[in-house]
Amino acid sequence: MLRRTLIAACLTLIALPAGAQEAPRLSVVASFSILADLVRNVGGDRIAVTSLVAPGGDAHVYAPSPQDARKLADASLIVINGLKLEGWIDRLVKSSGTKARIAVATRGITPLQSDPHAWQSVANAKLYVANIRDDLIAADPSGEAAYEAQASAYLARLDTLEAQVRAAIAAIPPERRKLVTTHDAFGYFGAAYGLAFIAPLGVSTDSEASAKDVARIIRQIKAQKIPAVFLENVTDPRLTSQIARESGAKVGGALYSDGLSPPDGPAGTYIDMVQYNIRELQAALSP
Ligand code: ZN
Repeated sequence: MLRRTLIAACLTLIALPAGAQEAPRLSVVASFSILADLVRNVGGDRIAVTSLVAPGGDAHVYAPSPQDARKLADASLIVINGLKLEGWIDRLVKSSGTKARIAVATRGITPLQSDPHAWQSVANAKLYVANIRDDLIAADPSGEAAYEAQASAYLARLDTLEAQVRAAIAAIPPERRKLVTTHDAFGYFGAAYGLAFIAPLGVSTDSEASAKDVARIIRQIKAQKIPAVFLENVTDPRLTSQIARESGAKVGGALYSDGLSPPDGPAGTYIDMVQYNIRELQAALSP
């Protein structure tokens, strides 16, 4: 008898805190890591967000797993970039049987032709955040006040970030605001902040550059007086040092374009990513 009472008492003790806990978090799936970070900043503690494409992965050519289909099936809201970034999402949504709403974070953004990387303009990122806020409120109306407050706080941080980007570009002499890059991901950044990202002529962006490509890049840099190159697909250090030596241009490191670094890396959040990129650009383009 005593034992039974004790067990009942214990059960009550265990049950009480669980009963006092808040409602389960809203389950949100974002298609890639940058989007997941924006969603996390607006959703805060009320949501649990997962990214389909992991940091460092390529959202353009992602191959979804059966586990991804299960994530979608369990989600209350799915946030994607749109602008044809996630060519694989429609089939995945269909096969998952999910009932969740698919929210396109770029709605209302003026698209650049065949360039889905709208998030590279901080002004656009603010539109993403406003859309995400509205989508979270639609999916979880009782969280409206929290989503509004968290979105405003984050939007204020993005205002500061945009001012930092403008100040960094303004510090570079106008004739030096151009660079050669092999990854065509900075159309929105260039258009917003007055920086020319020039594609290397006749060089495939998909494969490792050849010695012949490198000779062509060097001629182009000299002819167009380009102060810096950021070459993601020239990984051979002999070729990068040849470019630096023969063209006189600085060879910058990789810019983060389509995904964040792991959390302990230099670009673990959207804000860190933009700050990292402007530091790299400033270092390479300043005289
Ligand atoms: Zn891309």
